[in-house]
Amino acid sequence: MPVLSGGCLCGAVRYEARSPPLRVTLCHCRFCQHVTGSSHLVEPLFARDDLQVTAGVPTVYRHRSEGSGKHLDLHFCAVCGTTLFMTFERFPTLCGVYAGTLDDPAAIEVRPDNAKQVFVASARAEAVLLPGLDTFAGPAIDAAGVPQAPFVHDAPHRVGRRGSEPFPGEPEGSHPR
Ligand SMILES: [Zn+2]
Ligand SMILES: [Zn+2]
Repeated sequence: MPVLSGGCLCGAVRYEARSPPLRVTLCHCRFCQHVTGSSHLVEPLFARDDLQVTAGVPTVYRHRSEGSGKHLDLHFCAVCGTTLFMTFERFPTLCGVYAGTLDDPAAIEVRPDNAKQVFVASARAEAVLLPGLDTFAGPAIDAAGVPQAPFVHDAPHRVGRRGSEPFPGEPEGSHPR
């Protein structure tokens, strides 16, 4: 029995997941900004084998990461252009879904115990980072495989323009995890 399902805008490509996401990444990197055309990607990560395409055949665009030199595959609908999910050379057992394609957006939750926000150094000025989540300026694990130390905002944190004053009325506090 699928626990959740999703599809592209035109409905030609559909997928189902057999298990809930392992965790959720909120990614503010430039790659995710390009691919979503938006401020950041909300990416529930599933075991690769638990996600199945149930209708249509997604087209694959293979992108080589400048950072790691590894490729990742973007699976999108050639009819309407919606990107549905991606798979990774570096993490072959995982599959990252574009959360906007879920039939029920409430099917996944973002909580401190299951989610992190990454690449916030490239977050847009008006982006608001969530409190309580492990937060990383860049990747959570660097190209050499070394885990990076997170920090945690104590309250919602508006990124603001680089070098500008804090947004009025919002506390600036954060602490290392
Ligand atoms: Zn489509
Ligand atoms: Zn990203």
